Amino acid sequence: MSQSSPAERLETVKAAVARAAALARRSAAEVTLIAVSKTHGSDAIRPLLEAGHRVFGENRVQEAEAKWPELRASHEGVELHLIGQLQSNKAEEAVALFDCIHSVDRPSLVSALSKALVKTDRRPRCLVQVNIGDEPQKGGCATADLPQLLETARAGGLPVTGLMCIPPAEREPAPYFSLLAKLVRRHGLGELSMGMSADFETAVMIGATHVRVGSALFGQRS
Ligand SMILES: *Cc1c(COP(=O)(O)O)cnc(C)c1O
Repeated sequence: MSQSSPAERLETVKAAVARAAALARRSAAEVTLIAVSKTHGSDAIRPLLEAGHRVFGENRVQEAEAKWPELRASHEGVELHLIGQLQSNKAEEAVALFDCIHSVDRPSLVSALSKALVKTDRRPRCLVQVNIGDEPQKGGCATADLPQLLETARAGGLPVTGLMCIPPAEREPAPYFSLLAKLVRRHGLGELSMGMSADFETAVMIGATHVRVGSALFGQRS
């Protein structure tokens, strides 16, 4: 993989998404590939922008603020997704920078985001991150708390469009992806953010609308 160019890796991942979608009788157009550029500098990101890719994911507000204003100034139509944990005191900066926030996971963050939305004229889509394996120490809201958190988020005026999960490591991810898909349907949501480099094809077959792929595009992070 290290021999291939970023643009070639992008084509390889897109082709794999398309194959998985076709197997599940879905259209590849239903799946958005988020290129996760965390830890990678602008020099690594630019080739993907030049190859026409526009949807990127970052996990830290500060890191994204350092890289993206300049990249956005030179490439139109960039859509930026926040996929990492968000501290409430960074809510306003996140709302200013990101088009979609995948990590809404607790009432205090809902309230910080809802204040930030009122202050700015921006309305990034919000996904609730679910701790789908109910693992202690893992980010995301407990599955049992999801109905209440969704209600709180809607009451706070957040544009909640879907759910996100990171399944337990070292386990077969499919059952967890299926559970998240079921929760999305149960709550009348449309967006399903699941699948990373190791398992995005499985996620696409189970209904992912957003896959978050880093190392398969950019190589291993140091
Ligand atoms: C880093 C990260 C990814 C991408 O992981 P890869 O295995 O490099 O594809 C996806 N989602 C989240 C939440 C991440 O933090």
